[in-house]
Amino acid sequence: MKLIVKIQDIRATTVTVPLEAPLRHANGCHWGRFVRTIVEVETDNGLIGLGEMGGGGESAEAMFRAMKQYLVGRDPARLEEMRFLIANPTASLYNNRTQVLAALEFACLDILGQAWNAPVCDILGGRLRDRVPFASYCFFRYPNPKTGAGEVRTIDQLVELACSLKRRFGFTTHKLKGGVFHPDYELEAYRALATAFPEDSARFDPNGVWSAEQAIRFGQAIEGLRNDYLEDPVFGLNGMRRVRQSVRVPLATNTVVVNFEQLAANALDTAVDVTLLDTTFWGGIRPCIKAAAVCETFQLGVAVHSSGELGIQLATMLHLGAVIPNLSFAADAHYHHLTDDIIEGGLMRYEQGAIRVPVGPGLGVKLDREKLREYSELYRRLGGYPYDQDPGRPGWTPIIPNDRWADPGDDRAVSVPY
Ligand SMILES: [Mg+2]
Repeated sequence: MKLIVKIQDIRATTVTVPLEAPLRHANGCHWGRFVRTIVEVETDNGLIGLGEMGGGGESAEAMFRAMKQYLVGRDPARLEEMRFLIANPTASLYNNRTQVLAALEFACLDILGQAWNAPVCDILGGRLRDRVPFASYCFFRYPNPKTGAGEVRTIDQLVELACSLKRRFGFTTHKLKGGVFHPDYELEAYRALATAFPEDSARFDPNGVWSAEQAIRFGQAIEGLRNDYLEDPVFGLNGMRRVRQSVRVPLATNTVVVNFEQLAANALDTAVDVTLLDTTFWGGIRPCIKAAAVCETFQLGVAVHSSGELGIQLATMLHLGAVIPNLSFAADAHYHHLTDDIIEGGLMRYEQGAIRVPVGPGLGVKLDREKLREYSELYRRLGGYPYDQDPGRPGWTPIIPNDRWADPGDDRAVSVPY
């Protein structure tokens, strides 16, 4: 008979973990570190399930504390009920708890796996693969604020970064995050990246800041390369549909198909070929599996999106990647830009461009309490940072379609708390 456990406590701790260098993107920058909220759900028999959410601080911690009145005394196995309890689509229309639900779902699955002595992927259908392949995920970067190393601004620096990532981790898929510089410069950069590794595949993501005409121009110019897809060249399903009509490269998104309503709209009148599933933004691992099943039915592609993870979230991405049959692309992860992690054993290791799916019970990762303390102290010292601001361009406001590009000739370093 199944042992019934009950949720007894929920705790949240905000941490910040340094990156090798600040990562630039179309709307701003990760200022040299990630801020994440680590969630612990404890049961009456002493099990602790782990969850993780992007961002943090007082309001995030208070939100998880507020969930205690909903969940204490409940059976963590009742995940479908939990969805309606805290993120009912009509009751929760304006409080937007999807990401909170996701972190709690991770923690409950972790508890169930420990209680039943099974890895999460075995609860969710069983693993189809033992390792999940990842893309190199190259960014334009400011130099590390302390050492001055790690800048990626010139095309030579970009190719050097990709070479070093391939050497260290074995990637055979390369992603470039663009939307920072003029599209003509980024086209040259992407071409250099794709042709530096003719055996490997490549993908480009300017975060939806181009006009449809600009996107068509770029898309047509890369048609001869070994592309996985062009990700979010424009924002909006209608713009994507226009681009798709004129470009012979699959289009992917993590911005315009991020829920089941949009997934249905895209299946009925297709604008996007590949949906990047994010275990946080879709509300958990299980909604991503459901969405992957819809895509399988319509023979639309799926891949795994990265919203800037530490080890707990990475574990959710690995368990997801293990069980979905139609994962035909390498997953994305920011993970290799991190300098450390808050899980026991430190950073998970890449082998030949892939990471092993954890085999222990639950998510298969444990908190390193010392690291949790160290990086929550670092958060208290440094605070948050505005993800949608560029420390190198104070006062800059990007628009869509954007024409306010950064200057690749500007080699000034930025000063950010680090
Ligand atoms: Mg993206």
